[in-house]
Parts: sequence; C-alpha cells; structure tokens
Amino acid sequence: MVKGNLNSNSATDGIGMTSQRTRDRLIDRLKHSGISDTRVLEAMRRTPRHLFVDEALAHKAYDDVSLPIGQGQTISQPFVVARMCELGLSGTLVNKRVLEVGTGCGYQAAVLAELFPIVFSVERIKDLYLQAQHRLATLQLYHVHLRYGDGFSGWLNESPFDAILVAAAAPEIPEKLLRQLAVGGKLVIPVGDSSQQELQIVTRTDSDYSVETDSQVTFVPFLRGQI
Ligand code: SAH
Repeated sequence: MVKGNLNSNSATDGIGMTSQRTRDRLIDRLKHSGISDTRVLEAMRRTPRHLFVDEALAHKAYDDVSLPIGQGQTISQPFVVARMCELGLSGTLVNKRVLEVGTGCGYQAAVLAELFPIVFSVERIKDLYLQAQHRLATLQLYHVHLRYGDGFSGWLNESPFDAILVAAAAPEIPEKLLRQLAVGGKLVIPVGDSSQQELQIVTRTDSDYSVETDSQVTFVPFLRGQI
C-alpha cells in the first residue's frame, strides 16, 4: 500500500453528503457487494470522489452510481472502480507500475495513486485531460503521469506495466496493450459492444496469455483518435 499520498484538508474532507461518514457508508456497501481487498477499500475511503464531479452533483458522489462528467463521458461506478483495482492488483508480486486507459475526470487514477507508486493514464479528450491534470495537481498526486493521446497504443516508453486497466469498452482486446504487460501482470478490460460488455482479465505468462471473465458491465466506448 502506498500510504499518505492524499493530504487531508477542508476541501478533501467534505461535509454533509460528502462527509467521511457518508463515504464510510459507501465503503460498507462495497464490502457487502463483494469487494474484499482491504488495500482497495482503504484507498477508496481516502479518495474524495466529490472533487471529481461537478459541484451540483457532489451530493451524489458517494452513491454507488456512475455520473456524467461532460463530453458524453461518465465517472465510473465506485463498485466497478473497486473491482477493477482489485483485479489489477491480483496478479503480480510487484505492484509498481500501472497504466490506466481513459482518465476521464481522474478519479480512478487518484485511487490507483494510493495503490501503486507510479501511475500512468491516457485520455483522448483534451478538455477532460486538462481538467484531470488540474485536479490531480491540486491533490498533489505528483506520481500520477497523464498523457493526452489515443490509449489504443498504450504508453510504450513507460512499459512494461504490472497492471493495465481500460476504462472504456472495446470490441476486442487491443494487441498493443497486451504487449505492454509485464510477465505476471494483469490487463483488465471491458469487452463488448454498446449494449453488452463483460469485464475480461488477461494474465501474461512467460510464453502466452490466459483470459478469464468477471462480471457484466456498462462502459462508454473505447474510441480511436484524439479530440
Ligand atoms: N477512469 C474514469 C472513467 C472514465 S470514462 C473514472 O475515473 O471514472 C472513460 C474515458 O475513456 C472517457 O473519458 C473517454 O474519453 C476515454 N477513452 C475512450 N477511448 C479512449 C482511448 N482510445 N484512449 C484514451 N482514452 C479513451
């Protein structure tokens, strides 16, 4: 566990519907829904999700739902973030470097920043990339490295990664991402079309890859190019 990354202050602490008590209730709910990795539960307890959504939606930030973040995109449902992190951590003995594809508002990157010493994240929509960069800098999460680009190609110069989490649904697993996985590492990716997707987990072995299937999920589409 990477400890003490998020500095507590009046903005991160929250009040009322964003208070620690409200946040603790979300963590209890995640536990009841089957999230068991205490590292992930504690990382999510510490991460101020209300700072990653519009102020008008802050009162819903600790409900277990996805919410709009502009540009037709969403902040993922907390359960899905927790599950992806849990699966991402389940593979390697060394959980050092993680790549997220689809930064969006930056929430999952902030959670990952509590779990991995170095976090890389790529976003194809410039406006969201800039907003996420601002938020993560405000939270002083300087070990999160963001890039504006098409995550379909991963981040070759920084590979291999111990975990790669894709936050948008792809019709099939991109070959380039597989090649950037460390041996023993996990790629977690929603695979399917706009109506039906399943979370798949690929493990890289010494000579091959193995694929397992987790739950049914709903993500925004994984799209090519930058805007
Ligand atoms: N990680 C976010 C979820 C973001 S939603 C969270 O913390 O809640 C998914 C994001 O993936 C969107 O912002 C979308 O623009 C982005 N995305 C889709 N295709 C992409 C691609 N090829 N490269 C990079 N980002 C992509």
